[in-house]
Amino acid sequence: QNMQQTMPNWLQNRAYLTPNRVAIEWSKQEITFATLHKQVEKTVRQLTTYRIYKGDTVAVHMTNSIEMILVIHALQYMGVVAVLLNTRLTIEEIKWQVEDANAKQLICDTYIEGISIPQITTAQWSMGKEASIELQTHYHLDDVTTILYTSGTTGNPKGVMLTYGNHYHSAIGSALNLGLHQDDSWLACLPMFHVGGFSLLMKSIIYGMKIVMHESFDVRAVYNDMMKGKVTLISVVTKTLQEIITLADQPFPKTFRCALLGGGPAPISLIEECLEKGVNVYQTYGMTETASQIATLAPEYVLAKIGSAGKPLFPCELQIRKDGTNVSAYEEGEIVVKGPNVTQGYYNREEATKETIQDGWLYTGDIGYLDDEGFLYVLDRRKDLIISGGENIYPAQIEAALMSHPQIMDAGVIGMEDDQWGQVPVAFVIASGLSAEEIFDYCYTKLARYKVPKHIYFTDSLPRNASNKLVRRNLYEWLGE
Ligand code: ATP
Ligand code: MG
Repeated sequence: QNMQQTMPNWLQNRAYLTPNRVAIEWSKQEITFATLHKQVEKTVRQLTTYRIYKGDTVAVHMTNSIEMILVIHALQYMGVVAVLLNTRLTIEEIKWQVEDANAKQLICDTYIEGISIPQITTAQWSMGKEASIELQTHYHLDDVTTILYTSGTTGNPKGVMLTYGNHYHSAIGSALNLGLHQDDSWLACLPMFHVGGFSLLMKSIIYGMKIVMHESFDVRAVYNDMMKGKVTLISVVTKTLQEIITLADQPFPKTFRCALLGGGPAPISLIEECLEKGVNVYQTYGMTETASQIATLAPEYVLAKIGSAGKPLFPCELQIRKDGTNVSAYEEGEIVVKGPNVTQGYYNREEATKETIQDGWLYTGDIGYLDDEGFLYVLDRRKDLIISGGENIYPAQIEAALMSHPQIMDAGVIGMEDDQWGQVPVAFVIASGLSAEEIFDYCYTKLARYKVPKHIYFTDSLPRNASNKLVRRNLYEWLGE
């Protein structure tokens, strides 16, 4: 018998269980779960006047704000699938994603010129009339609630369908990993249109936990909140953590539990600096397809396993495969994952879904290995692997080595065709006051000979997408290959 599992509407239930707890705090304001629920109901009545109905797909183009939070919860109350757009996308990219997702309307902070579907700005809906409504009193765990696009680092972005169940299990998996404390509050400075930021909203209502929201990333403000003991947890990406740790000139309060680091590779030097300054960093591994992290390094291993992304969250599974079979410890292969937080597939992309998900396992396209105790080390994207004279070379390692030089601000590495070796690594760098010779010399102290780039190209900028990730496929075009 196939009984679809349901749960009471999360925020409504939270408002019933712990009405007076603070849900969100932002720029000197705060709102309890009870009030948040009331405001979301009002938002639903307002949005309903714009002919948004259960089963629709609606795109959202908003930056972190209380209005964005209201809209996200309201769409869940209405049973509407939300497509959360990255606000750094170009108009062309927005158009493409909105059409690809078949979104019926766009809810946005301000009107966007050149989009074909009807738009509802915050000024419009928040002033507008109210209609009577029918709330989803229960959520079906198998229903899709969001379509979140991948960053488009290795190809066109793909719309990842995530269900209530995916988000629920992501929140639970994280709580089982970090534990939940009575006084926990989580600083949200990453954009909520990304899965990492979005997951905090779900955690807040599922755990009954306060979120301290920052509408944009102001490193000083974030640092002050951490220092004042206002938050016990924070989610960061490498760049934000780097900025925070540069400011740190005194120990963090004991109540600060951890910085959850995700979204991409993390330089070991940064983790070491955090440890020196007494900031607990939990390195994570995950992707849009896994509704945020699927593996995390537990704190007791931060020193012993530095550089590792840890072990899968309970009850997820993670394996390394080559040609369909599992490899042994330390052997490199593709990372495959499985778990209740993992997507059922990409929207409107049967082929890509079939290629990516096989027998319930998601092939991540990332290469990595497990050590003899099962700790994961992520190497790089499979597509960017360079094979030189039979040796595997991972551009990420070379980029990290280059960027460890204080005069190299940014670096991108790709493989160039070579008669003798098949491929050789070449590097594009943003550097000041350094010659190619000096960079080669530096590389020889950091890297095995065959990994040292054969050419250094100086440049003023590197191709980065709206998620600020290096798009190496564009570098190939620069090379003319
Ligand atoms: P696309 O799938 O469109 O190419 P993307 O993979 O960059 O874009 P995201 O879902 O935003 O889109 O990013 C997930 C990816 O980020 C992972 O597949 C992995 O390559 C990288 N990543 C995440 N965590 C880590 C980590 N700890 N170390 C190295 N890489 C990581
Ligand atoms: Mg990806």
